[in-house]
Amino acid sequence: MPGPVAAGATPGARAAMQTRPFAIAIHGGAGTITRAALTPGVEADYRATLAAALRAGQQVLAADGPSLDAVAAAVRVLEDSPLFNAGRGSVFTHDGRIEMDASIMDGRDRRAGAVAALTTIRNPIDAARAVMERSRHVLLVGAGAEEFAREQGLATAEPEYFHTALRWEQLRVARESDRLQIDHDAPASAPAGDGKYGTVGAVALDRDGNLAAATSTGGLTNKRFGRVGDSPIIGAGTWAENESVAVSATGSGETFIRAAAAHELAALVKYGGRTPQRAADEVLATVERLGGRGGLIVIDRSGEPVFAFNTEGMYRGCACGVSAPEVAIYR
Ligand code: ASP
Repeated sequence: MPGPVAAGATPGARAAMQTRPFAIAIHGGAGTITRAALTPGVEADYRATLAAALRAGQQVLAADGPSLDAVAAAVRVLEDSPLFNAGRGSVFTHDGRIEMDASIMDGRDRRAGAVAALTTIRNPIDAARAVMERSRHVLLVGAGAEEFAREQGLATAEPEYFHTALRWEQLRVARESDRLQIDHDAPASAPAGDGKYGTVGAVALDRDGNLAAATSTGGLTNKRFGRVGDSPIIGAGTWAENESVAVSATGSGETFIRAAAAHELAALVKYGGRTPQRAADEVLATVERLGGRGGLIVIDRSGEPVFAFNTEGMYRGCACGVSAPEVAIYR
């Protein structure tokens, strides 16, 4: 990718840019993602969309924009893609509905916003951000969250916009076996498209040294009774504080909540002196002990992205400074 650094920048300005690192990392869910499960064409689509999301975030950061804008921009690209379980392409509830959750956090001051069980808001991450910036609250759910987002003038869409044939088929299979589709745990024999999460998330460091994190999901296939996972829970699926790290999680939400995963990771760095990688590995070990699986992305103020997952793969990528985005899927 061509470097977004302004071509006309003076050598001094260029040097200053080099000394103020910026970076973004993203995930598109973790699970039983094997080479056998993805055709080359589908894999290319995933890679292209991940790279597009990274570029969207990178452009913000390269133009001296805030990490908050960068993570929102990257997540929006992934929400707009039918490939991932967030926004368009979200999984179905037991009743054949879409209920989307999202959260965002600003590492400067720990301001945070989150929404759960949205049904018509096109980009749930924008709703989460509106809660943070334009309400006195942190988490809004269901009809109230919808009403708030509409009042804020956020774009809406008909249910059909979010629906995809693949997710419908996953619901049919999950309903038949009365399985709460925790995709990570799907058997290898599961039908194509099964066996993976698709929750999306981003973490970023901007040139001012500020961290931010964002996460968005459709949750779990066949979920019932207003089930909400970790993604919109600040401290479980999302965390950002400049004093330690920014984190976004994907996986079996119930265990990530019980592990207070994202906050635990930050605390291990801040109070326990762990490196971000070690902290991520420890948190995943806890998640595993609790019977869960999934992955985490982390960034600290050095701008070095960290990835950890205890599944076969995780859609992921990073872009450090102006270097070309790098994406990966398998272990
Ligand atoms: N963590 C999400 C949830 O439990 C699902 C996922 O990551 O795919 O709602």
